[in-house]
Formats: sequence, structure tokens, C-alpha cells
Amino acid sequence: MEEAFRRLSGSLDGELRRDEPMARHTSWRIGGPAALFAVCDTLKDLGLVTRVLAEESVPFTAVGKGSNLLVADEGYAGAVVTLGRGFMRHSVGEGRLEAGAGTALAFVVQEAFREGLDGLAFAVGIPGTVGGALAMNAGSKDEWIGELVESVTVFVPGEGLRRLRGSEVEWGYRTSSLPGEGIIVECVLSVCSGEPVRIRAEMDRNFRMRRNTQPVGKASAGSVFKNPGEDSAGRLIETAGLKGARLGDAVVSTVHANFIVNEGDATAADVLGLVRRIQMTVKEIHGVELRPEIRFLGTPKEA
Ligand SMILES: Cc1cc2nc3c(=O)[nH]c(=O)nc-3n(C[C@H](O)[C@H](O)[C@H](O)COP(=O)(O)OP(=O)(O)OC[C@H]3O[C@@H](n4cnc5c(N)ncnc54)[C@H](O)[C@@H]3O)c2cc1C
Repeated sequence: MEEAFRRLSGSLDGELRRDEPMARHTSWRIGGPAALFAVCDTLKDLGLVTRVLAEESVPFTAVGKGSNLLVADEGYAGAVVTLGRGFMRHSVGEGRLEAGAGTALAFVVQEAFREGLDGLAFAVGIPGTVGGALAMNAGSKDEWIGELVESVTVFVPGEGLRRLRGSEVEWGYRTSSLPGEGIIVECVLSVCSGEPVRIRAEMDRNFRMRRNTQPVGKASAGSVFKNPGEDSAGRLIETAGLKGARLGDAVVSTVHANFIVNEGDATAADVLGLVRRIQMTVKEIHGVELRPEIRFLGTPKEA
């Protein structure tokens, strides 16, 4: 790690940090230090960072805004690679919207509306970056970003840029078959012109739905578990009597039972302990195994 840090210091257009507290980079405001934290501003940065990390045998993970991540209290012994300014741009053309993977999804949603483009209203209120949304195939029950992807460009370490057509990628329920070792750098979304009044109405409806059914303003990572089949994880957790269940400062939201909120100083151990308790109780009462939707970084341990 020391050697990787030494070799990369002063060589990036972006930034390089040691022992960066990941609590600063997750919507849960939880997580110990990443041994190395590289903000890559250019493709040159990505090439250099991934080459040096490979040569020094340092593992890495791409992170967007950390809105779907539980990072261990002990932190992550590898490198976090995140996209900086050079990957935060967008352009709009005939029936298409091109966006850098570091761009906030919320910004892209607003820009699409400003340009009178339809198709992204489902994403109102989904935090995170375009890259994170593609990696997770973010969306609602009925619509997800993968459906709009005309092409996606991934930086594959040791290989370079790989451009995939949207139809070449398998878009599953909060998963995609994009190369796991790759870093998504940009995408082209297929969008068509729509009636602004109708788009605005749909965006407002989605916004209101979130405000009325989710613990807006509280530190969370959205839905913790995937919905099993046609059932709802939130319903199963609520009817298992777990709304308001608490471990340390991690609490099952009283507004939406599939959200765990950080009421102050929750740790990853608290959240994971609560996750296990929910899984056991729901299994006992409903006979259903809930699977996490959130992703893990490092090795969180249960409280
Ligand atoms: C209040 C709230 C509401 C939410 N509502 C929804 C919702 O309605 N629907 C929904 O789908 N999700 C929802 N989420 C979850 C989350 O916002 C999405 O999964 C989001 O797309 C994650 O983006 P991110 O940039 O924060 O990714 P991160 O959390 O940083 O990362 C998530 C995963 O993507 C990978 N990743 C990130 N960037 C890249 C990249 N450039 N290249 C390769 N891999 C990458 C990471 O390695 C990780 O595995 C919600 C979260 C919150 C806090």
C-alpha cells in the first residue's frame, strides 16, 4: 500500500488520500477508512491508478456516492476509486442523453426534464451517480435505468475502454452483467421528447410518493433488502413486528420498514446486527429469506 501511495502521489489530475474515512462518502454516514482513496479526473488517471494498484497487488472497488453501501467499521484495506470532475458532464442530442458516470443521477433527471426528454421520471429521488445507477440497475418496481441504455462504456483495467450496447448487457433486479472488474465511465441513454406538463406531473407524483412513504432526510441507504418475488420486503418486515427495532443507533424506520436509518452514531456492526435480526425474524415468521440489496465494502462484523 505504501508503495502504491508513493508511486501515485503527485501524479494524478485528481486527488489521492490515505486512510480516508468512508463515513464521509456514504449516505449512511458509516464506515471506517479506505486505505487509499483515489479521485480520478481523467482516463489517464484511471489507467495509471489501476496499473499501479495491479502491480502493487492492491485490490480496488469503484464507489459512486455510497448511497447503497455498508462499509465496515474497520474500513477497507484496498483502494476506493471514485470519478472526479472529468466524468461529470452530460450532453443532449436527438433522442439521446450522454452522461459521464460521475454525474449525479438527480442532475441528469432534471436536465432531461429541462430538455423536454421523457423516460427518467421514475428516477426522481434516487440518490447516487449515473455509474452507481448502472452498476445497480437502479429503478422502481416497474422501471429501471438499464431499459434506457443505448450504450455503456466501461474502463477495464489492463484492457482500456470497452463499449457495450445496452442490449448486450443483462439487466436484472438491482444487478447488471457489466464487467465486475470494470469502472463504468459513461453511458448513452435513449430518450425521446415528451410533453413537459405530463413529465413534470409524473416527477411530482414520484417525489410525493417518496416523501410520504420513505424516511426522507434521515441517513439511510434506501431499501436494505430486495423484494422477494411479488411480495414486498417492507411488508414482511413490518408484519414481523420489526418497525422501530433498534440496535445501537441503527433503527428500522417507522416510516418504511425496509429502510434502516442511522439515528446518530450507528456503526456498521449495528446495521449488520439489525440486518441479521430482520432476516432471522422474517424467516421464522414468514418462512421467507430476505436477501440484501445493499452492497458491502470491507468485512462488516455484527454487533
Ligand atoms: C434515500 C434513498 C433512496 C433510494 N431509492 C432507491 C430507489 O428507488 N431505487 C434504487 O434502485 N435504489 C435506490 N437507492 C439506492 C441507491 O441510491 C442506488 O443504488 C444508487 O444507484 C447507487 O448509486 P451510488 O453512486 O451511490 O453507488 P454506490 O453506493 O457508491 O455503489 C453501489 C454499487 O455500484 C458500484 N459502482 C458505483 N459506481 C461505479 C462505477 N463508476 N463503475 C462500476 N461500479 C460502480 C459500487 O462498486 C457498488 O457495488 C436509494 C438510496 C437512498 C439513500
